[in-house]
Amino acid sequence: MLKITDLKAQFEDTPILQGVNLTVNPGETHVLLGPNGSGKSTLGRVILGDPKYDQTAGEITFNDEDFTELEPSERAQAGYFLTFQSPPELDGVSVKDFLFAAKKAHDEAFSSSFKFKKGLSSTLETLRLPGEFIDREANKGFSGGERKKIEVASLLTLQPQLAFLDEIDSGIDIDTIREIGKVIREFLSDTSKSIILVTHSDKLLKEIEPTHVHIFGKGVIAESGGPELIEKVQNEGFDKYFAKPTSSLNVIQ
Ligand code: ADP
Ligand code: MG
Repeated sequence: MLKITDLKAQFEDTPILQGVNLTVNPGETHVLLGPNGSGKSTLGRVILGDPKYDQTAGEITFNDEDFTELEPSERAQAGYFLTFQSPPELDGVSVKDFLFAAKKAHDEAFSSSFKFKKGLSSTLETLRLPGEFIDREANKGFSGGERKKIEVASLLTLQPQLAFLDEIDSGIDIDTIREIGKVIREFLSDTSKSIILVTHSDKLLKEIEPTHVHIFGKGVIAESGGPELIEKVQNEGFDKYFAKPTSSLNVIQ
């Protein structure tokens, strides 16, 4: 479904992605584990074609189509979905209208707003968001956790083929993580769908048993394997993969 070959990208003049190789097939769940600032979010954005980043080398294909030829909106229409690490506030746009517009942008024939509202209400209920959220301005005054829940609601609304979920569990309580896990497992029960998940907590990893795990740092994938890599990283940390050059400490005497 997704094939990334030797992908390099930079922000302004700073190289961030330094040769990423990743293949995601239908039905797979890939987890990216890595230290802060290593380029995980950048990868998600470069796959989407965020114009803030320059792709300087490599290829991204999605269902055998050259993704780099497409605009971000076309990539989304093709079935790629990226959550925001910090979802923006939308002045004057309700949660319902925002998600309806997003759905309509993906599927012009989509029109049943009554059915849509009913489906969305039940999604919000599953995510333990009070019913009134449907009419509130999207993300306005929402807590970090509530914003993440709206991201998950948009995943369920849009039903993309491949979802890049960037730290959707940060700031979320344990019961909701369980619910999100359940929702994602349901999403993945359609074996034509796949997920790339970035997370620092093992709670969500326990809920969603990944098929592939990648250690990501300094703009590359240093090691790939199965779920056994999670425990290895939990025990050993990332330093062994991305150790900084040792410098002698300046001791003030
Ligand atoms: P991660 O998601 O792994 O924590 P990021 O992809 O967010 O890492 O960032 C990788 C590096 O690129 C960081 O040093 C970050 O500061 C820098 N970077 C990425 N995007 C931007 C941006 N839009 N503006 C400024 N710096 C950025
Ligand atoms: Mg990030």
